Amino acid sequence: MSTITESLLRFRESVHPTATLVAVSKTKPISDLEEAYDAGQRHLGENKIQEMTEKWETLPKDIHWHMIGHTQRNKVKYMAPYVHLIHSVDSPRLLKEINKQAKNNDRIINCLLQVHIAQEESKFGFDEQELIALLNDQAFKEYKNVQIKGLMGMATFTDKKDQVRTEFKSLAHTFKKIKEDHLLDSRHDFTELSMGMTGDYEIALEEGSTMVRIGSAIFGSRS
Ligand SMILES: *Cc1c(COP(=O)(O)O)cnc(C)c1O
Repeated sequence: MSTITESLLRFRESVHPTATLVAVSKTKPISDLEEAYDAGQRHLGENKIQEMTEKWETLPKDIHWHMIGHTQRNKVKYMAPYVHLIHSVDSPRLLKEINKQAKNNDRIINCLLQVHIAQEESKFGFDEQELIALLNDQAFKEYKNVQIKGLMGMATFTDKKDQVRTEFKSLAHTFKKIKEDHLLDSRHDFTELSMGMTGDYEIALEEGSTMVRIGSAIFGSRS
């Protein structure tokens, strides 16, 4: 068995049944994705729309494509026909554009709202107040072509496990609050909490993750 197949099987086993494994294949060649496909992997994650679209065109159509990277509004139209879940919705304007392009394609696009939980400035996302403001906004309530499936967050890139855990806990808390306060209409099926990557997925699972995004531990490090 090759390394990709082996790591995939191992990971799928270790996250099942708590969470869905999204294998992050960004920067990797088609042959690596084919190998993952042959090992039964159907959820793949990419962070650039153009790269994801080229891979989608080439590979079998039963793959579920996850967009996990910061997205420019003018490129949403390229993935709108096929994307399975956009994890990285980080502004009201982006959500508006996704709704518009979903409507043009006669689809409902699944989205996660990205929450800023890390201490690093560079990570995108809403804070809790901005999130609540969005969910209460009348314009948002009229977006009929997006479904908000849950939240996504990235912890600080650090060896300090306590800090990572605190950040994931805060995301899980926000998730629970939105659910329990019924801030979303029931058609949204708010059930997914996307948190955890190669370096921190174990802590994420302990804190309630339902979706982990693993790249380098499956496909090897990126150059
Ligand atoms: C690249 C990336 C991942 C995967 O990172 P690894 O550390 O290689 O597992 C997960 N989430 C996001 C948003 C990414 O950009």
